[in-house]
Amino acid sequence: MTELTCPKCGKGTDVFYASVCRDCYTGSKKLLVCPMVVYSKICPTCGSLFRKGKWVTRNDEIEAVYESVKEALELDKQARSLDMELTHKKLDYSRYSVHIEAKARIDGLEINAAQDTEVRISWETCETCSRISGGYFEGIVQIRADKRIPTREELKECSSIAEETAARSREKGDRLAFIAKTQELPEGIDIYVGSAKLGKQVCKVLVDAFGGRFSESPKLVGQKNGVDLYRITYALRLPEFVRGDIISADDTVVEVKSCGRHISGIDLETGKKFIENFNDILEVKKLGKRRDMVSAVLVADEGRAIQVMDPDTYESITIKRPEFLGAEPGSEIKIIKTAKGIFVLP
Ligand SMILES: [Zn+2]
Ligand SMILES: [Zn+2]
Repeated sequence: MTELTCPKCGKGTDVFYASVCRDCYTGSKKLLVCPMVVYSKICPTCGSLFRKGKWVTRNDEIEAVYESVKEALELDKQARSLDMELTHKKLDYSRYSVHIEAKARIDGLEINAAQDTEVRISWETCETCSRISGGYFEGIVQIRADKRIPTREELKECSSIAEETAARSREKGDRLAFIAKTQELPEGIDIYVGSAKLGKQVCKVLVDAFGGRFSESPKLVGQKNGVDLYRITYALRLPEFVRGDIISADDTVVEVKSCGRHISGIDLETGKKFIENFNDILEVKKLGKRRDMVSAVLVADEGRAIQVMDPDTYESITIKRPEFLGAEPGSEIKIIKTAKGIFVLP
């Protein structure tokens, strides 16, 4: 049953959309308009895209190309439930032909659109990459240890923690969070960081992981556009003692679990937990490390004391029974021989 006649095409219709029939209405709507040529600025080194006046990290060239197209096209403001698909063909090293297919609803009617455009890339090195290639850095994290040389493993771990911290900050948008270089030295390593902020972050994460402390000292290195430029040295000191060290802290022999502002670990004589502010300990000395432990036979368990056979002299030695001991007499236990006597290890 048709009651109306479309004033535009003359066909009969039962519903008007903006005073014309459905076909005339959808035919007059343009879902999207895209320029024939879209210009895009991409960094050839890292793939970042220059967008709205600044560089943003994009790892994939195609992703950057599509983003440029989406930004250049204009959609009908009334379009709802938009479904858009882009496909591309590479024309040469700096040109892509991009095909756009789109589908959306306007006033409840489905509208389709298809268009082709060409993306022209101007390859330009972003400021981060030009800084990296120019050897730019804002800070140096100097990793050393208190009264000792850091171990290889420690330094390796510090380096990878620094890399991870930088990667996380870059993901969060801090484009200067890069490590310019790492220099190995006899006494530790120097990590050159792209931003002072990263230098501080790395120090905080390392102190959280290893204990120790850091200090910062800025040095004026010049001026840029009337602003003073500083380079900051972060002097990080890993703690004197590390996990697994056996130390004497005044009269207590401790297996160290962590060492920072506090030393915490196990009192090897009693088996109880030990925690003490580093500055409150008058005399602290390293006796050995967990790796030096040897096997010994538990000869007897007398409740408060035990007898252990010294594996070198075969003498039975009586020591206090630590809380953690669970072995039966006759079985082997792990002990450590130190200048302060024999101790059982948990
Ligand atoms: Zn019509
Ligand atoms: Zn770049």
